[in-house]
Amino acid sequence: MLKVSNLSKYYRDVKAVDGASFFVNNGEVAVLVGPNGAGKSTTIQSIVGILRFDGKVTIDDHDNRSLAAKQLLAYVPEIPSMYPLLTVREHIEFMSLAYGFDIDNDKIDALLHRFELFDKQDKLGNELSKGMMQKVSICCSLVVDPEVIILDEPMVGLDPTAIKELKQLILELKNDNKCILISTHMMEMVDSLWDRLILMKEGKILSNATKAEVGDQDLEALFFDLLKDDETVGVEYE
Ligand code: ADP
Repeated sequence: MLKVSNLSKYYRDVKAVDGASFFVNNGEVAVLVGPNGAGKSTTIQSIVGILRFDGKVTIDDHDNRSLAAKQLLAYVPEIPSMYPLLTVREHIEFMSLAYGFDIDNDKIDALLHRFELFDKQDKLGNELSKGMMQKVSICCSLVVDPEVIILDEPMVGLDPTAIKELKQLILELKNDNKCILISTHMMEMVDSLWDRLILMKEGKILSNATKAEVGDQDLEALFFDLLKDDETVGVEYE
């Protein structure tokens, strides 16, 4: 389970996130949405430990700065970055070793096949297209069997086959009781996936509600409705 409690972040005098609190349960796909500048990236970068912040973030009750939390958490950044002199396969092997796992060749083969990277496994990081980097980044996050997975704009730059596989994988992770948080502008891409809507505006959480709580509307309509009224919906959580 992911819990964010009273998260605030200033960039000099800009308050990018203002006391944000929300949670994502195991077995849930949460979407983090909001207009540009709402504070989504800052929130995600705080959760994954890239930024310092005020407040508390826990992963299965472990403080997000602890090793125990980091071992449970995987992150697919919006802009993937590769090691220029590691091959595709070596990236995934390296991630397995960094998380303290043995290299599982069958598992790596399956991921490479799934994302149509098997015949590209010997390409170097600096030889990859943006879409290929994104797919490697997704494979790296999945090979470590995370309990909580954070995906920042994961569909951008992916081809239709990869989008289909990723959606299927997200549903498999959910059925496996994992906790998934997706930040995205591409609401039509996650409409069939989401269980919980976390809406941010001006650094604050406007909604943290399940599909059952907000009704069976499509996500885009709901987004505009909630923003129009500045309506707060869902569970208050400190
Ligand atoms: P979102 O991801 O929802 O578009 P961000 O978290 O990127 O929002 O930004 C939230 C606010 O923080 C915006 O006002 C943005 O201009 C500001 N901001 C983001 N990053 C920085 C930074 N590195 N330095 C100064 N201000 C920043």
